Amino acid sequence: MALVSMKTILNEAATKGYAVGSFNVVSLDSLQGILEAATQLQSPVILSVAEVHFKYVDLEYVVPVIKQAAAQAPIPVALHLDHGVSLEAVMRCFRLGFTSLMFDGSSLPYEENVARTAEIVRVAHSVGVSVEAELGQVGGGEGASEASEADRSLFTDPEQAVDFVRRTGVDALAVAVGSVHGLYKGKPQLDFGRLEAIARGTGVPLVLHGGSGIPDEDIKRAISLGIAKINVYTEMSMQATERIRRKVADPKVISFPDLLLLARQGIKETVAEKIKVFGSNHVCDAPGVFCDSCGACVMPSGETCAASAPATNNLAAVSDAELARMVTSVVKGILALRD
Ligand SMILES: [Zn+2]
Repeated sequence: MALVSMKTILNEAATKGYAVGSFNVVSLDSLQGILEAATQLQSPVILSVAEVHFKYVDLEYVVPVIKQAAAQAPIPVALHLDHGVSLEAVMRCFRLGFTSLMFDGSSLPYEENVARTAEIVRVAHSVGVSVEAELGQVGGGEGASEASEADRSLFTDPEQAVDFVRRTGVDALAVAVGSVHGLYKGKPQLDFGRLEAIARGTGVPLVLHGGSGIPDEDIKRAISLGIAKINVYTEMSMQATERIRRKVADPKVISFPDLLLLARQGIKETVAEKIKVFGSNHVCDAPGVFCDSCGACVMPSGETCAASAPATNNLAAVSDAELARMVTSVVKGILALRD
């Protein structure tokens, strides 16, 4: 089916009590591995491209392939910009038809994060794109080989989260409650009380970054308290690397594509394991007829498909003059903050 809105997928997940995995696409092999796992398990999935990974993927080249792959997949798929920090990245993703983006203003002073996020939300919503923002700071580096631990002083403040969601209108909020990007130093300690308070106060689906390395039981508890999207990258990357490492130890191995196949298999298995822990497996394959909304996923009669809202971003319908006006308004807003 065509790409669907992330907001619809996440609201459905939050209502039904499971989480949807957001997995980073860094190559065609990762794209195939992720989609094969999600399709086999009949799970909705979020394909993320992180701004820091733009060096691995030529967006203009790879997005048409992602759209084609999503169109063939019998599951709801959202295409999401992960940790967008520059206006250039955000605008490129609008143009290419992403259905969702994360604007990460978490390192900015609070009022600046609010103002910039609110501007991005206004433009994104006008073209049907969902927005995730971050409040507090999830530490570590995306796929970093250096382990880190969470800094409690950067955890999300529940009261501030309520104010932030109200003033920005974001569709989902990434929270800092003890997870980190990359590898963990010691055992991760999630602050469940804080998570519960944020979920209760904000009422929006919450996002857990740094989902690699957190024990399954903690993940399940976090989902029961309001986490509806979980980002995974490091474990996929490690599994792919490990499979290749084992194989190249044999000096007779010279087949590059066979190494890529092994990497894809490692990614596929990791994604499948995560989908099962997140509880999104088989949400699309209950017995019934093919759903009217998307023509592909199968939903029990009487239930609404995650793709029932109008899908893809409707930027094509916006004239260049209108787009230029919206961009100017965002830039003016940002410049005004600097004055
Ligand atoms: Zn992240």
